[in-house]
Amino acid sequence: MTNGQGIELSIIVPVLNEAESLRPLYDQIRQAVGGRYDYEIVFIDDGSSDNSFSVLSEILQNDPRMRIIRFRRNFGQTAALSAGFEHARGNIIIALDADGQNDPADIPKLIEKLEEGYDIVSGWRRKRHDKVLTRKFPSWVANRLIAAITGVKLHDFGCTLKAYRASSLKEIRLYGEMHRFIPALASWSGEKVTELVVNHRPRTRGKPKYGLARTLKVILDLITIKFLMSFSTKPIYVFGGLGVLSILGASLSGAAVLYQKFISASHLSMNKNPLLVLTAIFINASVQFILMGLLAEMLVRTYHESQDRPIYVIEKIFESDDKVNEA
Ligand code: UDP
Ligand code: MG
Repeated sequence: MTNGQGIELSIIVPVLNEAESLRPLYDQIRQAVGGRYDYEIVFIDDGSSDNSFSVLSEILQNDPRMRIIRFRRNFGQTAALSAGFEHARGNIIIALDADGQNDPADIPKLIEKLEEGYDIVSGWRRKRHDKVLTRKFPSWVANRLIAAITGVKLHDFGCTLKAYRASSLKEIRLYGEMHRFIPALASWSGEKVTELVVNHRPRTRGKPKYGLARTLKVILDLITIKFLMSFSTKPIYVFGGLGVLSILGASLSGAAVLYQKFISASHLSMNKNPLLVLTAIFINASVQFILMGLLAEMLVRTYHESQDRPIYVIEKIFESDDKVNEA
């Protein structure tokens, strides 16, 4: 996905309607990394409808280390991060939120940790400043679930502030709300993943973009991830397994029906014998499952062999000597 092109560090920031936060955040990032690293900052404007883009363009005029990737419309935070990863030129990539809740002062610490020999260092917002009922509690549950199901023991998958080796992102493709599963996917393909406690600040400007609904999406993504992690190259094991279970069910209830018919001599009519109906359903289900498994096997082959398709459409990439008004 990414190829380091000589720059040491890329900082990527997904932005949706954060006009008021951008300038202070930009200053803090420069304060944290200026003079210490050879860096670039890439802002991804994920279809903002406030004046985030004009604030960014203004900053861009005076900073050749900065780029703005502007999406045509809102494609979501995962897509924004994905575009950032794709276009980052650094060997190390740091992602952080645009709203100022992540603290740029943590960046050097994350890099230090990474240099101890990790591929991904994930931020852990131990003292999180968000609403308890709609954000903290659901994400506590979600994190436990993700850790249990993926086997990757992190406390805070959802923290955007993470450090990545560019090389560790090469093979990863993101969909849905899946950026939080990068550590799981990476660790699954053999990368070294760890976490580091980071500062988290209350949101003082702009509005939060998510509510409870995201937790549901995360759970559904988790099912997908589990499936991909365990069975993506052998879906027939899942569907075929269900098919075999259905055949077993059909045999049992079929045997019971035959017993009733010939030995205890009761009715064999559809509406009076639920076991007969059950047998028919099981037989049907087993055929469906096995066919679905075969279809999935074909899909998987296409999936693994087809060409890369990005999950976003970029309007234009702005370099510092572009005339922004042309856009
Ligand atoms: N964001 C984005 N696209 C979206 C929603 C959010 O780029 O569709 C950005 C947003 O501007 C912020 C970050 O993603 O920089 C996290 O959003 P938010 O602070 O609302 O979420 P939380 O901190 O609660 O996870
Ligand atoms: Mg936030």
